[in-house]
Amino acid sequence: MIDSSHLRAALLAIAEAVSAHAEELTALDAAIGDGDHGANMKRGFDAVAADIDTICAKPLAEALKAVGTKLVMTIGGASGPLYGTLFLTLGKELAVNPEAYVVAYRKAVEAVAARGKSGINQKTLLDVLYPVADALEAGKPKSDVVAVARAAVAGTKDRKAIRGRASFLGDRSIGHIDPGARSSLLLIEAAAGVLP
Ligand code: ADP
Ligand code: MG
Repeated sequence: MIDSSHLRAALLAIAEAVSAHAEELTALDAAIGDGDHGANMKRGFDAVAADIDTICAKPLAEALKAVGTKLVMTIGGASGPLYGTLFLTLGKELAVNPEAYVVAYRKAVEAVAARGKSGINQKTLLDVLYPVADALEAGKPKSDVVAVARAAVAGTKDRKAIRGRASFLGDRSIGHIDPGARSSLLLIEAAAGVLP
């Protein structure tokens, strides 16, 4: 069972990973976007970390919703509402079906897609989030799930962006890793490191 203390460890690990990789995310976004993804993500997860005691005093589902709300308010850009939706939906789903983590994750990814009016293979964070849902549903061990996510990030490089700012570049977006895909991998790696 996952509880708020696991969530606390996961969120702090995510905040640390995002901070450590903020320059990398910014460089990826500078190549095919506007160069703010590192700063956006760092602002969001630093805000979550700063409020971690209040957030994780709540039951898991409520804590996840609080994270989503905080991320929507602080990340900004296109990715703020998307990452916010991911956590908000996890919380909403687990409030109804506690412990149905894989189902909740799938619904959360679908909610992100609905929010972004986007799908898989459009060179966005969904190119990572969807394969991870598949891997979780297949019952793969954590190390395999992370491997799937890593391969998915690499796979964004040869793809043309269809959604988000990078899509303005058309074919010139090809040859670059998607920044949101890379940040999603940071979240997944950090979560896999601390969740049971
Ligand atoms: P902005 O593009 O507003 O500057 P960020 O730089 O923080 O926002 O985030 C960019 C990332 O957001 C992209 O790399 C991509 O993964 C993701 N993204 C942007 N638009 C969409 C969308 N419509 N659907 C899914 N993901 C998207
Ligand atoms: Mg940007």
